[in-house]
Amino acid sequence: MTTPTPGRVWAHVGQPFTPGSDPQPAYDVLILGAGRMGSALALALTERAPHLKTLLIEEGGLPNEDGATILAPGIWTLAHLPAAQHAAARWTLNRLRDLLGDDLQARPYLTLHDQPGPGTQPTRDLLGAHPQSLALLDPGVLPHATAHEAHTYRPGTLAQTAAQGAIRRGTDLLLNTRATPHPGGRVTLERLTVTNTHQIVTHETHTLHARLIVLATGAHAPAQAEHHLGLHTRHARAYRQTPHLATSSTEDAPVLHAHGLTLRPQHGAYTLIPTVHHRDPHGYTPQGGHLTGVPTGLRRETLEDLVGLMDALPALAPSDLHLGRSLADIPGAWLALPHGHPDAPPTHQRLDDHTHLMLGGPHADTLGLWTADELAREIAGGRGE
Ligand code: ADP
Repeated sequence: MTTPTPGRVWAHVGQPFTPGSDPQPAYDVLILGAGRMGSALALALTERAPHLKTLLIEEGGLPNEDGATILAPGIWTLAHLPAAQHAAARWTLNRLRDLLGDDLQARPYLTLHDQPGPGTQPTRDLLGAHPQSLALLDPGVLPHATAHEAHTYRPGTLAQTAAQGAIRRGTDLLLNTRATPHPGGRVTLERLTVTNTHQIVTHETHTLHARLIVLATGAHAPAQAEHHLGLHTRHARAYRQTPHLATSSTEDAPVLHAHGLTLRPQHGAYTLIPTVHHRDPHGYTPQGGHLTGVPTGLRRETLEDLVGLMDALPALAPSDLHLGRSLADIPGAWLALPHGHPDAPPTHQRLDDHTHLMLGGPHADTLGLWTADELAREIAGGRGE
């Protein structure tokens, strides 16, 4: 087997971007967005269709601080998936093992309930070995629990590892570049730079043509399809905040899930991952709420959910929960909602002769790599061209 020539990386505008000579297209595939979905697709294409030359284009760095990937919980679990999706989830887990090695950590995952159900056991028994975790909740209010297999990791590391693997196998990467898709396989690029007054400005523009364009721009993808390609989709987006809970957690503390809220042990404390109730309507701007008249950085819906859970989870008392004073105080990101549903698995879709769209969304931790590979197989099989 011949070793592939590694791809090129353009990180900043000081590096001249010379993709190849016109009119011959320099690339077969342009992937817009190097979050974990775009990066995973780039890597999968080098394996499934090594003859295709791919350029991965990212508006920010790798991973982008504003993207959904960096704030994703990084929890692989079957706990919330229907049986029909288990095989794809298992495939994703094996792939995560290959890519992340020791960065993937096995961890108990407990769903907590007020009523007994199939497979539930007493919460006190399941948390017997984890008194610190038991102290977070009121076992009188949440007396029943179900244990699930889970593995935790950093989705930002996954995006980086996948992109680096793709580059080693020949994919080119263009960072700090905003891409806009157009009909007919054309993409315009704005290479961005920061002025000494911290403004982001366009340094230069380029136009590329390719047989295939993949919109892997996360929550932006449906709006891009609509605005630039004139194609309406049923996909949507929601703004999800992931507040910090200062209660200390040990290395082996279980992930806890109660009434839609996930408590993810991280950095010696907890990250809270609230439920996504619904799509945020077009034009919605996230806004902080108020608790007893005091402004908070948490949006109203999330605040109401957390306040509603304080009896069951006394650890959520405002002394430990970081409420912030304004939106900027609380980590949050726009999340794609495939088909507009918070429970839908990641998806990909053919939009027109030249364009595919790929979305991760709330289940990307457990299924995203499978979906990226599925699209790579479709493209390799020629049905995507
Ligand atoms: P996913 O989980 O689907 O990968 P992310 O939000 O993490 O979702 O990734 C989408 C990536 O696409 C982000 O890194 C974001 O910076 C990038 N992106 C969004 N719009 C553009 C654009 N117009 N051009 C280039 N990259 C973009």
